[in-house]
Amino acid sequence: MGINTQIRQTSLRNKVLIPFFAILIILGSAATIGTILIISGTLENTADERLQTFQHQIYSEIRALESKLIDQANHLEISYFVAQEGIEDSAHTHQNIRSLLQQILKGHEMTARLIAPDAAETFAEQPLNTLITLARSSGKPQFRFTDDIGPHQALTLIKPIIDDGDVEQFIFLQAPLNRAYLDKISDPLHLSVSLYDINGNFLVGSKKDYEYLPIDLETVSQVLKGKPVFISHDTVQKQRSVCYAIPLGTTDLLIVRLDMPLADITHIVSTLAIRSGLSILVAMLIGGLIYFRLISQILTPVQSILQATRAIGDGNLDHRIKQIPAGEFGELATGFNNMMQKLGKLYDEKVQSELELAKAHQEIEYKGILEEKNRTIEKTNRELTLHLKELSTLLHLNQEMASTLEVDVLFNRVIQALSELMKCNLVTLMLFDSADETLTVSHTLGIDKEVLTGIKFKVGEGVAGAAAESHQPIHSKNLEEDERYLNYKEKLPVKGSLLCLPLLAKGRLCGVLNLHHEKINGFNDDQVKLAQAIANQIAISIENSRLYELAKEQSVTDELTGLSNRRHFQDILQREVVHAQRFASSICLLMIDIDHFKRYNDKHGHLQGDVALKKVANSLLQNTRGIDLVARFGGEEFVVVLPKTSLTGARITAEKLREKILAESFAGEEASQPGGKLTISLGLAIYPDHSGEINELLNYADQALYQAKEEGRNRVVIWKDS
Ligand code: GH3
Ligand code: MG
Ligand code: MG
Repeated sequence: MGINTQIRQTSLRNKVLIPFFAILIILGSAATIGTILIISGTLENTADERLQTFQHQIYSEIRALESKLIDQANHLEISYFVAQEGIEDSAHTHQNIRSLLQQILKGHEMTARLIAPDAAETFAEQPLNTLITLARSSGKPQFRFTDDIGPHQALTLIKPIIDDGDVEQFIFLQAPLNRAYLDKISDPLHLSVSLYDINGNFLVGSKKDYEYLPIDLETVSQVLKGKPVFISHDTVQKQRSVCYAIPLGTTDLLIVRLDMPLADITHIVSTLAIRSGLSILVAMLIGGLIYFRLISQILTPVQSILQATRAIGDGNLDHRIKQIPAGEFGELATGFNNMMQKLGKLYDEKVQSELELAKAHQEIEYKGILEEKNRTIEKTNRELTLHLKELSTLLHLNQEMASTLEVDVLFNRVIQALSELMKCNLVTLMLFDSADETLTVSHTLGIDKEVLTGIKFKVGEGVAGAAAESHQPIHSKNLEEDERYLNYKEKLPVKGSLLCLPLLAKGRLCGVLNLHHEKINGFNDDQVKLAQAIANQIAISIENSRLYELAKEQSVTDELTGLSNRRHFQDILQREVVHAQRFASSICLLMIDIDHFKRYNDKHGHLQGDVALKKVANSLLQNTRGIDLVARFGGEEFVVVLPKTSLTGARITAEKLREKILAESFAGEEASQPGGKLTISLGLAIYPDHSGEINELLNYADQALYQAKEEGRNRVVIWKDS
């Protein structure tokens, strides 16, 4: 469960519970405080009531004490008179009365004495004196609290015994009204009793350690008016007091003060308060628990539903309310769960269909991409194939151009390849003649060369001339609209487009290649570039073949056999003739031809024929002297110059050469050659015996050779003037 959810859920509880508990606490507190107030008020009243009760009791006690004193006094009076009647002698009377007093007061805590009137006048004790005077004047018994007459504090009574209007005696009675007495009457009441005079001065009090303070005048004046005064003391030990007056006889009075400690009452109050507080607390707790249970019964499902709602909000459609309570919330929760289930199902279906849709989209996209890629690949393939074809054509052409020095063959092959590559139906190659600075058609494809024979273009004339002049390829996209186009001087009116490529080797113009396409704008830029590249190669080939021809003209050796070539042979022969003339020596000339060599070629092919040719050449070279010259005369014909050689010597050499070839083995000779052996025939002529002129001498040697052939081959024939 997330913290937020917790807070939200707590707050929901709080929303319901906090106000409830707040109200509960306020009510509980109010009830407790109210109860305490009521109880404490009640108890205060109770204290006063109790005090009043005690007040009456004390009052009664004092009254009873008073009555007791009066009773005893009366008793004594009667006893006195009785005693007096029987006894004449006053001494006896006194004696009798004393024993009587003792008898009467026996068992009472009282003291008594009889005081004679005359003795009373001079009574030493001043307060007693005053009291006697008062009794005498009033003729009535007088009460007084005394602490200065007699042995202790006491309630004192003076009663005059009057006989025939004269005071016979004074009865003096004292009942103790001391602390012990007060303790006796106050102890059962759990309070302290104290007595004060009418000035509020402390006289006596119960409880030894009790601190009795004087009563203030205000209270005294109230009390003296006859009203009891209640006082609360907020001293360390709380107490409630009552002060009231008790008359003593008719002339005196005492102020009684009762102090009741409130500790008990406070204790009772606090106990009551605690109990009531506890009761309220327990009631609150029980009420709270019941309420909590009730609220929980409502809140828990509400929270579950809330939680579930939040779960949906967060996108969790798998959430279900697990604890389904009874009642309306239960129905709500079940309904909710059903709704969630349906929603989840719908969502799943939606997701599924979205997935399928996405998949379908992707497939379509992939298909599209694939098709696009396929198209690209196909296009690339086509282009690659084209390029490959172009490349292979180029390579082929390059090889051709590099290897073929026969320009004629080369040109035919090149224009053939070009026409296929460029898909053009008509190609013409014009060669530049630097002598008269004209272009002449030398090779054609798609038209008979004869048609264009004799047509010459000056540089700058026509489209081809323009290309030659500018040294730049010209693509005339629509010949019908190109005024430069001259239709090969009206010999070849064609439509479509024309690509004229100048053939430039090392910046030197050597011709123009014209490619005709039957369509307008028949060549694209790539094709123009490719064609120009080929054109450059052709130019190089032309240049190469020109150089080759030049080199060939200048060379002395025969390429195939490594022997001297015919030109060199002729130079040497001339030199030797000059030499022979100077030194009057002779020169023998051997003309040699391989027998039935055509058959050998036909049977074993030209290449093997070449091998045989080389072998023959080598054998000729090996079997002649260093000063002799062996040359290839042409084809499979050789010529040997033997300087300073006699006819006999030459004949021997010729025979030797013939035999050597005969002895040599040539591959496959048995299959192709008549007689199974490759042989040579030789014709011999000598200078200056046969002729002093070189060409004639050559001719004679050739004739001798011819004769050798005639005679059956594989032999030496010396020229003879027939
Ligand atoms: P014969 O001379 O005995 O009368 O018969 P032949 O078959 O040799 O006839 P001919 O001399 O007229 O033929 C020349 C042949 O030599 C033709 C050609 O096939 C072959 N030949 C010429 N030059 C070369 C060459 O350079 N290489 C090869 N392989 N063959 C050559
Ligand atoms: Mg020949
Ligand atoms: Mg031959």
